[in-house]
Amino acid sequence: MRGGLVGPRVLLRRLREVMSEHASAQARLDKIVVLIASNMVAEVCSVYVARADNTLELYATEGLKREAVHLTTMRMDEGLVGLIAREAQPLSLSDAQSHPAFSYKPETGEEIYASFLGVPILRGGNAIGVLVVQNRAARTYSEEEVEALQTTAMVLAEMIAGGELEALARPGSGGTAMRRVLTLSGQGIADGVGLGHVVLHEPRVEIKNLVADDPERELQRLAAGLEQLRASIDDLMDSGALIPAGETRDVLETFRMFARDRGWVHRLQEAIHTGLTAEAAVERVQSDIRARLLRQTDPYLRERLHDLDDLANRLLHQLTGTAFTLAADKLPENAILVARTMGPAALLEYQRLKLRGLVLEEGGATSHVAIVARALGIPTVGKVEGVIGLVEPGDAIIIDGGTGEVHVRPPVDLQSAYAEKARLRARRQEQYRALRDRPALSKDGVPVEIQMNAGLLVDLPNLDETGATGVGLFRTEILFMVAPSLPRAQAQEALYRTIIDIAGRRPVTFRTLDIGGDKVLPYLRKIDEENPALGWRAVRIGLDRPALLRTQFRALLGAARERELRVMLPMVATFEEFEAARAMFLRERERLRRLGQSGPKQVHLGVMLEVPSLLFDLERVFDQVDFVSIGTNDLLQFMFAVDRENPRVATRFDPLHPSFLKALARVPAIATEKGKPVSICGEMAGKPIEALALLGLGFRAFSISPSNIGPIKALVRAVDIGALEALVWSRLERGSDPARLRADLAEFAAAHDLAF
Ligand code: PEP
Ligand code: MG
Repeated sequence: MRGGLVGPRVLLRRLREVMSEHASAQARLDKIVVLIASNMVAEVCSVYVARADNTLELYATEGLKREAVHLTTMRMDEGLVGLIAREAQPLSLSDAQSHPAFSYKPETGEEIYASFLGVPILRGGNAIGVLVVQNRAARTYSEEEVEALQTTAMVLAEMIAGGELEALARPGSGGTAMRRVLTLSGQGIADGVGLGHVVLHEPRVEIKNLVADDPERELQRLAAGLEQLRASIDDLMDSGALIPAGETRDVLETFRMFARDRGWVHRLQEAIHTGLTAEAAVERVQSDIRARLLRQTDPYLRERLHDLDDLANRLLHQLTGTAFTLAADKLPENAILVARTMGPAALLEYQRLKLRGLVLEEGGATSHVAIVARALGIPTVGKVEGVIGLVEPGDAIIIDGGTGEVHVRPPVDLQSAYAEKARLRARRQEQYRALRDRPALSKDGVPVEIQMNAGLLVDLPNLDETGATGVGLFRTEILFMVAPSLPRAQAQEALYRTIIDIAGRRPVTFRTLDIGGDKVLPYLRKIDEENPALGWRAVRIGLDRPALLRTQFRALLGAARERELRVMLPMVATFEEFEAARAMFLRERERLRRLGQSGPKQVHLGVMLEVPSLLFDLERVFDQVDFVSIGTNDLLQFMFAVDRENPRVATRFDPLHPSFLKALARVPAIATEKGKPVSICGEMAGKPIEALALLGLGFRAFSISPSNIGPIKALVRAVDIGALEALVWSRLERGSDPARLRADLAEFAAAHDLAF
């Protein structure tokens, strides 16, 4: 029996009794400090609580002067208590006053105490208070005493997080740190403003029983929980399926390693020996690990913290028999979902109407969940570091998917400012909706085709909602990216048929798989390349490994029986590549005929113009293709040699640069000469000023994101395209710089009563 550790267990039990008394929060807190002091044979025990104004306030003391309670405060950068809160680490000193951080508060009368032991009161790895014991005599606190005090601090953490101490704070302090107003910034992923309340995708386990009566039983529970955890990880690895959060095999391997890690398991057992239940021990150890790793700058270590967090969470759920992720049908109204990361399928399961926004700790704009969030029109902010540890379920929260800002527990004036912003946005959407059934005809009677970009089934209702005249770019790889495994030919055919069915009479242009580069299929082996954007991707893979492209052609031909089929090829760099892919397509069509099966009534095979080399072979290309669609996202990337995914350089070159506009201008001219249609499907066409420039250059067909359709249609209907052409060409001939052209176009828009 570990004699020294019986003490904390007795203390914890007594604390549990005090906690359940019907006394006021202050009275219970006062009793708690007396109990701790006597149990630890200390003359002083004090509780400091972190406040919303970033200071620490003395909330209760045994031993220091009572008058100092709710009077003594210190800044986070002040004193030993401030140091413990900042570093979230225990501090044990036998001669406290000689420590450089010691600061003397005369009203407390603490100058007579030599020894000092303080531990942080932790919540999600952040210090929300500090618990201190002091002794008159110089002495060294044992490791077991430090442990015991840390365990005791957990009880206080529950009290603070439960909101019981809010009413006690000194007036004007804004309450405890749990009520702190926070502004965090991340990466805007899906535009829109969301106001609501925090809902954790992976809910925290609420630990109801901190204190255990029978440690042996808790050790057995822990052993059984760990065993089940290991078995479930092994199962996941063996089944080859993806787990709900979308983790890869690497992460599972890391899980497996931690789950067998002796050090971790030993620490859990030690925590149980101090008197905690198995679940409280997991929480306690994880909180310490978080506190230490959160302050690490090494990205590798921080990554491991996430993995350990996940694992601890799974173990907690295992021990308490609760589900790991929120049941999709349990989503409350006005929910802003907060997650470390999430698989696209999990997001699709939530009820869209209750969801006001999504915040992700990880996950940038190109993550699969981000693609789905955009498709569903859910305002989303990604890459918000540490957000899960900083919010509590039910907290008020506002997110701005445009700027990437996240406001936690916002003050009332900010709430009303954002509510106004959201109302304005809704009113503008209403105006755009009114244009839905009106044609995109310019003031001088020039018709412009406005289609939409899509990549998922959930995108398709936008056809009706926006009044888009078709899908000008269906990114088939997105269907593949959110699928749990490679869709086989039959499944693909069924999907494509559904899409064509929903679109009805409106044309759908399917782009063949544009994978590689940053578009990775989770179930295919990732190939490491020095320059993935210039590497083995899109049609290059299709030609080198024909089975994939052939299957897709076959599925598309099957899906469009007796109907019109439009297919286009991405990343074509040479005329010969187009010819080779077309030959493959025609062979598949011929095969259908040979088998006596009907094929599409009409076929249009087009090419994406997104590699500059094709610009210098336009005549030949237009002679052979049925249509051309310009992918300005990639064309810009390759023309200016600027990585579109690299934030350092991505916005370095303006698409309104004369060199780019002149390159583009040749395309509609040749298209007209050859009598073949051309459209633009890159983001450029969805931006108002850029769209004006494109209209001025002679483009008359766009395919853009659904959210841009209303604004661009309103723009087309307001302008005189003849005047616009004259303006753009005169500036181009003069070699006008992009900033100048932008200003001129903005002025032109303003003169047409257009406000962006
Ligand atoms: C483009 O490159 O402009 C384009 C539309 O394709 P994606 O953005 O999918 O590469
Ligand atoms: Mg592209």
